[in-house]
Amino acid sequence: FDIRRSSNSSAEREFENALRPLQFGDFSGQLKVVENLKVFVEAAKYRGEPLDHTLLHGPPGLGKTTLSNIIANELGVGFKVTSGPVLDKPGDLAGILTSLEPNDVLFIDEIHRLSPVVEEYLYSAMEDYRIDIMIDKGPSARSIQLDLNPFTLVGATTRSGLLTAPLRARFGINLHLEYYDAEVLSRIVERSAHILSVPIEHDAAMEIAGRSRGTPRIANALLRRVRDFAQVRGTGRVDMAIARYALEALNIDRYGLDEIDNKILLTIIDKFKGGPVGITTIATAIGEDAGTVEEVYEPFLIKEGFIKRTPRGREVTDMAYKHLGRSRFTAELQ
Ligand code: ADP
Repeated sequence: FDIRRSSNSSAEREFENALRPLQFGDFSGQLKVVENLKVFVEAAKYRGEPLDHTLLHGPPGLGKTTLSNIIANELGVGFKVTSGPVLDKPGDLAGILTSLEPNDVLFIDEIHRLSPVVEEYLYSAMEDYRIDIMIDKGPSARSIQLDLNPFTLVGATTRSGLLTAPLRARFGINLHLEYYDAEVLSRIVERSAHILSVPIEHDAAMEIAGRSRGTPRIANALLRRVRDFAQVRGTGRVDMAIARYALEALNIDRYGLDEIDNKILLTIIDKFKGGPVGITTIATAIGEDAGTVEEVYEPFLIKEGFIKRTPRGREVTDMAYKHLGRSRFTAELQ
């Protein structure tokens, strides 16, 4: 059972939306990011101008969509959502851009996946609130310039390394989201439980938080499953015993590591004697893209103390050997 793979059904999306904070006050953690954003939002409101274009980057499930939604709410403007892969042709983008009201927020998820032509088209829209559109076909085809309402583009990406320099340069605000500590995640779990009317004890919320890979989306998804166990096998109340029972039954890693995290650690131990080994070599060995390993997987493994960065490459720590039930000595003998 992999909780991370089950997050795309429409029921799951509906569940996520119900738990999405709508104001800065309901958004836990990411203190620096939130403090900065509050100032920028306040200043833009004071001047009656659109907020500067904002880039949010960081691993999936940490609150990029949520924050962009909050930005629009706090600005008191409209919010439109699209994503890089959906915007196939410049015409798709033009349709959305021309529908924006003054100072609206346009959220483009996975902005690193925009096609080059669409991206190029976005430049003048971001810079001068202006786009060129082609009208007519054949010999009478010509382009006309169209003025847009001023707007804020909020772009989200898990892979900021893939953003082109010209696109990156057009964002005035650039913010990075970090993995959450268990304490903050437990508050998110308690807030979600409250919204779902599920009674939960604090140590049970901490247990769920500790196994959520530092990620609110995973914490909420685990809470949902634990709630099933509490209602069917327990009294409906989520206490430590039922939380542990459920998390064991679901086979959730004690530290919240997922399949790929474990694969990375095992590969370094079994194939490279615990390291040091380069990130590209690790990525090739597990059949993943090096940038994804570096931007999505490694930061969590480093934060939790499973991997160390050394000048000669990545090394696993004793904690990784212990967690995987491997001994450093026998691994070295192989
Ligand atoms: P991303 O866009 O980064 O992939 P989302 O914004 O979709 O992540 O967040 C995933 C889920 O986690 C949503 O249901 C959201 O409500 C919840 N969530 C994310 N960050 C927070 C937070 N700081 N506080 C409370 N809930 C959060």
